[in-house]
Amino acid sequence: MSGAVRILLVEDDLDIANALIPALRRYGLMVTHVRTAADALAADPGDLVLLDLGLPDGDGINVCRQIRTVSDVPVIAVTARGEAADRVRGLRSGADDYVVKPFAPRELVARVRAVLRRTQAEPEQGSVVTAGRIALEPASRTCTLDGVEVDLTRLEFDLLAELASHPRTVYTRERLLEKVWGHQTPVGGKTVDVHVANLRRKLDGWGGIVAVRGVGYKLDPEAA
Ligand code: CA
Repeated sequence: MSGAVRILLVEDDLDIANALIPALRRYGLMVTHVRTAADALAADPGDLVLLDLGLPDGDGINVCRQIRTVSDVPVIAVTARGEAADRVRGLRSGADDYVVKPFAPRELVARVRAVLRRTQAEPEQGSVVTAGRIALEPASRTCTLDGVEVDLTRLEFDLLAELASHPRTVYTRERLLEKVWGHQTPVGGKTVDVHVANLRRKLDGWGGIVAVRGVGYKLDPEAA
């Protein structure tokens, strides 16, 4: 990454913002701070958005959805409501990660850096993606397991490539449908399960595609 990494901080609580901004700046991150949903949507999202879900003029989840319609910028949702339902809702709206208040500024900075590492390490088109025992070559659309080629359908390849492009990131079925099948798909989440089952069978029992109960799937490159 060349140049300073720019963070858009969307947070109406000034105590939190005033604690976070210096912590982020200490890591060389450039911070733009806004306090409302309207200002968040008008601002340049930069390289990463830190998004409070409880904003004075609207729900941060709607802000996240609107950002997602125009940009793939990573979003970390910040929620005061530490309930599981909110977390899942945050991920479904397209957030890459979430943090529950209260948190230590250094914990949030660590999350920011982890998400940036993941999202900025995305491979160039044509380069090989490796995730543990599997390797994917987008240009020729070949997949190998322990060096042996595996015959995948177009959708199976795209599904595996999507999961492998963000290892350890949990994808909801909705997000996978959107990414792999496209926005206007008429199929439901069950389709994802069927393709995952086929993939697992073809990948000869490799345990790298992990179901996350009640949410979706992630890829664990360290799986046996
Ligand atoms: Ca708030």
